[in-house]
Amino acid sequence: MNIALIAHDKKKKQMINFTKKYKDILSKHNLCATGTTGRLINEETNLDIERFLSGPLGGDQQIGSKIACDKIDLVIFLRDPLTAQPHEPDIIALMRLCDVHSVPIATNISTAEILLNALHREEVTNWREIKDRY
Ligand code: PGA
Repeated sequence: MNIALIAHDKKKKQMINFTKKYKDILSKHNLCATGTTGRLINEETNLDIERFLSGPLGGDQQIGSKIACDKIDLVIFLRDPLTAQPHEPDIIALMRLCDVHSVPIATNISTAEILLNALHREEVTNWREIKDRY
């Protein structure tokens, strides 16, 4: 699976702890991330990760374009809703694309845990087939 990881500044520590905890699962998948999130995850966990631009410079849009091309299977986007983000329109556009393409997206750590733990359940990993049933 292709998994995209993004964390706003106040959620980066949470993302690092999350990727450390799930390193074994994550290492079996293709990972990509926005610039700073990807660099920090790589430094802290040594996981291989394709890095795009930093979010405010267009990284969210780069990931959005992969979602639009059906090249992303899961998005973990730890958002900070309490701090104004300069690239808010890009963030909303990325989440919109997930809904357009029925791509699973976790926007907080609790959903991230549940989605990642569900990765090995066949009916969840085959979500592309699931969405055709509805
Ligand atoms: P960053 O971008 O990983 O480069 O900090 C994330 C974001 O702000 O959307």
